[in-house]
Amino acid sequence: MGHRKRIALSIVAACVLASCGQEQAAQQGTSSATKASAPAPSSLRLYVFDCGTMQTDLSRFRLEASEVATNVLATPCFMVAHPRGTLMWDVGAVPDQDWMPTGSPVAHHLTLPDQSTRDLMLNKPLLSQLAEAGYRPEDINYLALSHYHWDHVANANAFASATWLVRANEREAMFAEKLPGTVTPKMYSALKNSRTTIVNEDEHDVFGDGTVVLMNAPGHTPGHQTLYLKLAQTGDVMLSGDLYHFTEARALKRVPTFDYDQTQTPASREKAEAFLATSGAKLWIQHDSALIASLKKAPEYYE
Ligand SMILES: [Zn+2]
Repeated sequence: MGHRKRIALSIVAACVLASCGQEQAAQQGTSSATKASAPAPSSLRLYVFDCGTMQTDLSRFRLEASEVATNVLATPCFMVAHPRGTLMWDVGAVPDQDWMPTGSPVAHHLTLPDQSTRDLMLNKPLLSQLAEAGYRPEDINYLALSHYHWDHVANANAFASATWLVRANEREAMFAEKLPGTVTPKMYSALKNSRTTIVNEDEHDVFGDGTVVLMNAPGHTPGHQTLYLKLAQTGDVMLSGDLYHFTEARALKRVPTFDYDQTQTPASREKAEAFLATSGAKLWIQHDSALIASLKKAPEYYE
């Protein structure tokens, strides 16, 4: 399918979902009239942003303290810059406007809608890291979330001008009258009127050249997905979403107690492991705090 045709289809999908007319025209006008701050790179880049860490209760993951190195999970954000456009992938646990950076790590205590609480450590707001890399939120062409949980969607409203790539069952759950588990709808409410592409295929090739692919991996949530990247120098990488939270869970095969479908998760993991074995891609477990700490952060990038 040609590039132009794909764009046309995206717009049609958006019109089915959102109130289309003037709002969309206004968005398109804005995006074509405003120049991107950073020039498009000549090859694929992956930016990793420090969006903090959080303490977690291991029993929610059916794990014992003796089985894992730490109960601290990273909550990173990512941006892909492709010659044909940009994609944000997961946008943090705490909205930038909900905390004040100090130059030192900031302890942040939050209460979720179900009244459970979490303790996080935050270093830098997402949008200031994005700016350091040369991008404004309006420069982002696509937004994809691995899934709708609160620790992945915090700054979603900042990217409402991007085209949202989402699976139908995930979007439906996010705006349902009865919300699924621990979600924070006000953090992504603006996406309801975003230009939206409903992703139906198991594998969705974002830029049409096979280097940036959303891969269906349901179970943790109904439309949970991972992101496969073909980086010229780094090699192939799969960003895990929450397919796993701990590297140890990969061998132990423990499924979190709060997964939406307890049987889908093992099936999605098996499929992903088979893909990793044949492609040779590295799996980057996004919540793995040791891994994320070891990665270079924006404005540096992987290519
Ligand atoms: Zn998570």
